[in-house]
Amino acid sequence: MSYIAGKRVFSEMIQKIKEDGLYKQERLICSPQGPEIIVRFPENAPEKKVINMCANNYLGLSSHPEIVHAAHNALDDRGYGMSSVRFICGTQDVHRQLELKIAEFLGMEDACVFSSCLDANAALFEVLLTEEDAIIADRLVHASIIDGIRLSKAQNFNFKHSNMEHLEEKLQETQNHRLRLIVVDGVFSMDGDMAPLDKICELAEKYDAMVAVDDSHATGFIGKTGRGTHEYFGVMDKVDIITTTFGKALGGANGGCVAGKKEIADLMKQRGRPYLFSNAVPPPVAVASIRVLDILSQTTERRDKLERLTAYWRKGLTDAGFDLKEGNTPIVPVMLYNAKLAQQFSKELYDEGVYAVGFFFPVVPMGQARIRTQISAAHEKEHLDFALDAFKKVGERLGVLGLKKKEILAKFGE
Ligand SMILES: *Cc1c(COP(=O)(O)O)cnc(C)c1O
Repeated sequence: MSYIAGKRVFSEMIQKIKEDGLYKQERLICSPQGPEIIVRFPENAPEKKVINMCANNYLGLSSHPEIVHAAHNALDDRGYGMSSVRFICGTQDVHRQLELKIAEFLGMEDACVFSSCLDANAALFEVLLTEEDAIIADRLVHASIIDGIRLSKAQNFNFKHSNMEHLEEKLQETQNHRLRLIVVDGVFSMDGDMAPLDKICELAEKYDAMVAVDDSHATGFIGKTGRGTHEYFGVMDKVDIITTTFGKALGGANGGCVAGKKEIADLMKQRGRPYLFSNAVPPPVAVASIRVLDILSQTTERRDKLERLTAYWRKGLTDAGFDLKEGNTPIVPVMLYNAKLAQQFSKELYDEGVYAVGFFFPVVPMGQARIRTQISAAHEKEHLDFALDAFKKVGERLGVLGLKKKEILAKFGE
């Protein structure tokens, strides 16, 4: 055993990350997930109650009593873990129920549930496509789609973010391939904008391509009844494949799926490596996810409230003079561009009682650092007012109010 060379190399890597202001320090949450959380930061500091502005808990279901109750019951009825991958002896009736339920919710024929959406994306492309085929991806798709594409043998094309002329060029370029699959995020996680699915589906029809959408940041709350971006754009019958997660709005534990035509879901189970070689979602999670979908099928109350709160939050920040990314989803990025500034901003917010972390390279491109805020239906207006006050105070103190990109970069550096 000789770790001497390794230790030097790895320590230098960490040192470099720190020097660049890109070192991430985790905060320990000592309470359930929710709009108010108890946090220790640094790890040995006393506990502090703060408003949470950066969870993917869009519908406020992560610690909802009905969901917790459903999980408790499942623990008694179906046990804790499966100790098996799905195909050997890891599929309970509840796993299959969840697949049929999520397929129905999304308006699809069938679904295959994985341990995560990252796993769903890792399976999707490798299973369906060969070197004869072409994948045409938006350049800003989620990291797990990029990894999934890397795992497949299909030829890899991409188009400029939401640029339909460029997509059309790529579709023309790939007409000789056996199959073409366009892939986008429904809602792009870092910017909170939506893929123009109506136009994408039109182009897909014109050039005989399939459409896959990762709706992880949309399922449950985008669209009139929360089905997702395909509902929002009126193309529920035109999107071929949806991948999504149970780890965000849908209760926030874990699990993901590929939903689509029967053959597609079936092939995932025959050939998907994460399906075949990684453990099944725990029964309490499957059952609680089913309960989530039942609640969301009965009422749109939560997504409606989320929409109202989001509009309120966006307006408050805009009026205060912050530079926001345009959009109408509950992902509201406050642009600061400089990584160290984003870190400092986040730290001072925390001192003011607001939890919102800075995002910087490699999570977003260099020079695009930001505080990504996210609204939850569990928030009340009072939470947002408190958070707005904190943002204003810190914004004023650091001198960024009313400044745009150029001015911030001139003041704080690249
Ligand atoms: C969060 C996210 C994932 C990963 O989902 P997990 O279930 O946590 O693995 C995949 N795709 C997108 C677009 C996401 O935002």
